[in-house]
Amino acid sequence: MTDQQTSLTPIDSIIYAEWIVPVIPRNTVLENHAVAIDQGEILAILPADQIERIYNAKKTWRLEEQVLLPGLINSHGHAAMSLFRGMADDLPLQNWLNDQIWPAEQQWVSAEFVRDGSELAIAEMLLSGTTFCSDMYFFPDMFAQVAHQMGIRSQVCFPVMDFPTVWAQDADEYIHKGLQLQDDYRDNETTHIAFGPHAPYTVSDKPLERIAMLSEELDISVHTHLHETRQEIQDSLKQYGKRPIKRLADLGLLSPSLQAVHATHLNEEDIRLLKQSNAHVIHCPESNMKLASGYCPTISLLDAGVNVGLGTDGCASNNDLDLFSEMRSAALIAKANSGNASAITDTDAIEMATINGARVMGLEQKLGSIEPGKWADLIAVDLSSIFQQPVYNPLSQLIYTNSASQLSHSWIGGEAIVEQSQLTGIDTAEIITKAQQWRNKITNRSSLA
Ligand SMILES: [Zn+2]
Repeated sequence: MTDQQTSLTPIDSIIYAEWIVPVIPRNTVLENHAVAIDQGEILAILPADQIERIYNAKKTWRLEEQVLLPGLINSHGHAAMSLFRGMADDLPLQNWLNDQIWPAEQQWVSAEFVRDGSELAIAEMLLSGTTFCSDMYFFPDMFAQVAHQMGIRSQVCFPVMDFPTVWAQDADEYIHKGLQLQDDYRDNETTHIAFGPHAPYTVSDKPLERIAMLSEELDISVHTHLHETRQEIQDSLKQYGKRPIKRLADLGLLSPSLQAVHATHLNEEDIRLLKQSNAHVIHCPESNMKLASGYCPTISLLDAGVNVGLGTDGCASNNDLDLFSEMRSAALIAKANSGNASAITDTDAIEMATINGARVMGLEQKLGSIEPGKWADLIAVDLSSIFQQPVYNPLSQLIYTNSASQLSHSWIGGEAIVEQSQLTGIDTAEIITKAQQWRNKITNRSSLA
């Protein structure tokens, strides 16, 4: 070791990259900078020549022709449904749920199904740049276990419904089991538990009021499908005499802890209620388009000051978990709907999938941008391929070209989870075999029926 090296501060790692998009400050691309990492957190982001005069790293990455950015946050999904990918296409939400998805779930969903489906989904998310995902599904304890093992950070939303399913019999049992899960993961930096009342049309007033009370008392977020379709709003007007957002407001659920998924067909009053309460919206553009559910007015929401994150929704209504594609869809659908090509820029789209997602989760102090003191959850996209040439602006490339397939690296808490576009320490061949076994089981049974 030279004298110069001994005077340097020893740290775990340094990542040098040709470009860095830190997200904060916004609309910024740094050239020839590097990120210093120690004990799972970002220490500094500095020009490359400065960083090597300060730190001596155990491990170094040099990413030429690559862009480094914060790990993406998939704010809404149902991981295990990846095992139903492509099983029921081209149907509107109510037929898709009533005739296809709910019967299939009744027949097939078990703890093993959730284990294998979650592994498949998490592998896909990690390989396409997601480092934090929110999940809502049966057997949330199994999802939490798998996510923890595979190293992805997550928000696990335990489901609550009025009717019995494989996981619980009634709303009280769903809540009781969910609160046990919350106890198991209290203060865990990787796994965060939230209430997941499925939707206003599957949960009645009493359990919703109880969730509002417990959420405030225990400081736990509430994640729910809200205003997914026009039908949902019409049914609510008929049954309760008010729109779903107003009903939740009257039940005490609109608060900074509320994560409203979809938020389509909003009127001015809906937007005002969301803004007034500082509730968050999670936009799922591809699922909304595929099920012809409607359109979330992202521009009006952002203009009103409502925080908007981004989600893929489950794989059965998307049919992939690629957040880069979701960012592109969010930008394109906003332009098409508003007739304004400047609506939802590349910067707006990347914020939705990073810092806005961090705000949805209440984790903006630790996630969503490359800043000192945040967790070292980072990804790198290779811009050297034919799909990306020539590079005028890396930010544009990230949103408007085929970026997920060019993901080269991913780190969570400074640990390399993806290197050279391969998962480290996860056997993808085994995950694929298990998915194929489920496909065989599900199709054989269907054909005998
Ligand atoms: Zn959903």
